[in-house]
Amino acid sequence: MLLAPAVDLPAALAGARALLARYYGYPDFRPSQRRVVASVLAGRDVLGVLPTGAGKSVCFQIPAMQRDGLTLVVSPLISLMQDQVDAARRRGIPAAFLNSTLEPANQSAVLRAVADGTCRLLYVAPERLPRLTADLLERCLGPTLIAVDEAHCISEWGHDFRPSYRALGQARSAFGWPQVVALTGSATPDVRRDIMDTLRFGVRRRFDLHLASFDRPNLRFEVARVKSDRLRVGVLCEELRREPGCAIVYASTRNTTETIARLLQYRGIRAVPYHAGLTKARRSETLERFLGGDARVTVATCAFGMGIDKPDVRLVLHWSMPPTPESYYQEAGRAGRDGQPSRCLLLYARGDRSLHQLQIGVTFPPEKMVERAWRDPAAFKRLPSGVRASVERLRGELKPGCGRVDWSAVRNRKQLALERLRAVDRYATTRGCRRAVLLGWFGEEIGRCGNCDRCRQ
Ligand code: ADP
Repeated sequence: MLLAPAVDLPAALAGARALLARYYGYPDFRPSQRRVVASVLAGRDVLGVLPTGAGKSVCFQIPAMQRDGLTLVVSPLISLMQDQVDAARRRGIPAAFLNSTLEPANQSAVLRAVADGTCRLLYVAPERLPRLTADLLERCLGPTLIAVDEAHCISEWGHDFRPSYRALGQARSAFGWPQVVALTGSATPDVRRDIMDTLRFGVRRRFDLHLASFDRPNLRFEVARVKSDRLRVGVLCEELRREPGCAIVYASTRNTTETIARLLQYRGIRAVPYHAGLTKARRSETLERFLGGDARVTVATCAFGMGIDKPDVRLVLHWSMPPTPESYYQEAGRAGRDGQPSRCLLLYARGDRSLHQLQIGVTFPPEKMVERAWRDPAAFKRLPSGVRASVERLRGELKPGCGRVDWSAVRNRKQLALERLRAVDRYATTRGCRRAVLLGWFGEEIGRCGNCDRCRQ
């Protein structure tokens, strides 16, 4: 049976607009927000694929405030949920998070706030859900809406690193099929399908898919070929000399971020490193310095990302190529959120790709090697630690003790990882329009953009 409440949509939208004005101070929804909010108000499951900066939080926070009961927000990172909860509270939206950083007494206080209705949005990581589901059901506090923020993580991380993402559908059914709104800044057609299958769209409710255009016309896309690290340094310094505004430099390892930041500081540029290895206090301090304009350049790993809303970043420079077009577009998209002309520059050397290929080889080691390591503890011990972790992860997933192993799903994921890597490589080496290659990956067709280094040549 499909659940389809009768709704007076114009009246519901007018109510939502009033709440938008009250909590956010904005007179109206942006067109892509309005489409998502209208579907949520109509009682449908929704997947909204909206580019970074489109204002995705509004799409679930306002409907959450317009209905009774709890909205559960599934969020991938502790730092992200803390930022979002702080921002929501500043606006007067009664939100809280539950995660391991809270003392047990504070966790109980959050659950009490949910029970007495003083917390209406509860942010949690997917790993928390099995325990929380039991806790909430015991108190008859099941959510009326589940919002899955950064929903591409279901597909990107759910298979190999964070299996809890795959169990969201189960949590949903345990709660008695509450409505779901999933939002992401990037999703290819395959990822969209994966998200909707995992969240079991179409089982109990009608659903809508809203795709906003991904194009950000104010961003100029460029690639600089570099044959050595010395050349990378040269290009980086030259770019930062030409561009006096704020910049983010993305690098792939913690050590590289520290080295580049030191090098820039030595040259008199106010640069700070940011990565997951820093203490929480150091990370917040770095973020504050960057947001406040005291540090001009943040040199960061991918840990610096989701939820960082600084409107006037003028340059996003990638020290080396990221492994997927999704991560590239999301990170590059932190430039120019205020709509002003900004640049996204990727430094590219042929060897960058091999490093990622090696990493894919560690995440998906050869099947024969894995099967041997399952059988033979001595062979297992001889493997490097990264490969051993993959062997164990695959043991959990493929359960070799229960009969013949079916490798097909793992093979598909490995293929997809390689395909994504090739797509970034294509972007970096194309002779045609870079934007067309990038947007083409997300299923959007455009002609020549006129605002990338290829089109302007
Ligand atoms: P996303 O999560 O999609 O990257 P955010 O939720 O961080 O985007 O919002 C991006 C910016 O747009 C924020 O500064 C937010 O306050 C602003 N914003 C959101 N909705 C509206 C609106 N309807 N009108 C004007 N500004 C908005």
